[in-house]
Formats: sequence, structure tokens, C-alpha cells
Amino acid sequence: MQELIGICVECLEEIYCENGFFDGVHKEGKLFCNDCADREEGHGIT
Ligand SMILES: [Zn+2]
Repeated sequence: MQELIGICVECLEEIYCENGFFDGVHKEGKLFCNDCADREEGHGIT
């Protein structure tokens, strides 16, 4: 089962919840895919 949650604010990739697993990250009320969330780790999005 796959449910569309929203799109990444960085790369506009669609983010889904698959089988209860949320394939993305919420930060500051914004939605990021895992790739962008990882990339921004070192840049200090807080
Ligand atoms: Zn992204």
C-alpha cells in the first residue's frame, strides 16, 4: 500500500508512505525526501 504524502520542497520529488513507512522527513513544517534531508544535515537546516 502506497499513499502520497506530498512533495519535497527541495527537489519536488513525490514522497510516499509505504506500508506505514514514511519515506521522507518533516523539518520546520516542511517536507523533504530522504536524499535532501541527508544532504541538508551538514548545512544545518534547523
Ligand atoms: Zn528532495
